[in-house]
Amino acid sequence: MRALVYTGIGQLEMRDVPDPEAEFVVKVLGSGICGTDLKTYMKGHHFFPPPAVLGHEFYGTVTKAPKGSGYSGGETVVVAPYAECGVCPICKAGAETLCKNKSFVDGGAFCEYVGVPASYVPTGVFRIPRPDDIFALVEPLACVQNGVGHLRLKEGSRVLVVGSGPMGALFALVFTAKGIPVTVVEPNALRRDIVASWGIDVREPGQMKIGDYDNVVIAVNKKELVSDYLKQVADAGTVLMFAGLAKDEQVAVDAYSVHYREVSLVGTSGYAMRHFRQALAMVGDHKDIFSRVITHRMTLEEGKEAFGLLSEGKAFKIILKP
Ligand SMILES: [Zn+2]
Ligand SMILES: [Zn+2]
Repeated sequence: MRALVYTGIGQLEMRDVPDPEAEFVVKVLGSGICGTDLKTYMKGHHFFPPPAVLGHEFYGTVTKAPKGSGYSGGETVVVAPYAECGVCPICKAGAETLCKNKSFVDGGAFCEYVGVPASYVPTGVFRIPRPDDIFALVEPLACVQNGVGHLRLKEGSRVLVVGSGPMGALFALVFTAKGIPVTVVEPNALRRDIVASWGIDVREPGQMKIGDYDNVVIAVNKKELVSDYLKQVADAGTVLMFAGLAKDEQVAVDAYSVHYREVSLVGTSGYAMRHFRQALAMVGDHKDIFSRVITHRMTLEEGKEAFGLLSEGKAFKIILKP
């Protein structure tokens, strides 16, 4: 099959690679480019030494299913890229994203076919009602759901999303779908215009009073922002560090805010299967809202161009279609 292969920092090429040998195979219809894929392409990633096929936000058609799997050829499905074990003490404690016994899909999705181990099918594969690129958003939305779950939202809460890259934009749309007032802060005028066209309140940095907001989502990887917003968020507010920082990076915390103002700093990465199921229900219910974030659909052959657009901040979500 044809695959878009990451061959080193800043390098992607189309190659012929062996078809997957798994018992359950999905023909990829669309696969979203994630922040992690972009980071790998631009800086490398210890999880993905080249050569590697990236991509984990995908949906497609079942082309091979073993007897007794409950699936038959031609059904459309979305596949979670990983799933927690569900039985270890960490899973039982509700911190499933930290499970050390996760199971995974075989390989990336920027290609024609993805293999799924038969044992993974009952936990990680979900039927979808129709082939639709909106289902490539289930995984990133699951990560957003995990983040939202760590906020302290209450009656009358106002949320500030810092940064409207693809994930910041998805957060803003999730709060819109939930009917929670949200403001987005974004320095890039092009991104501001797009978010404003969705009817979302969007400001330049400095154009709002941070103390008016009790929940802040930091969707940009700048540590100074974490310190600034923590110091200025409303009393009893929560700041979510959603964008990751480099390992060993230190963040300055205003002690007065934490102690006397009961402000919390929390962080999340990834999702648990309950978030994946919530996200799947959410995209089904609000297709009109979430489809806005898909700004480009491109072929695998155009992959390099797609990564270029993302690295220049000229796109939100790009779906690669084999
Ligand atoms: Zn992702
Ligand atoms: Zn576990």
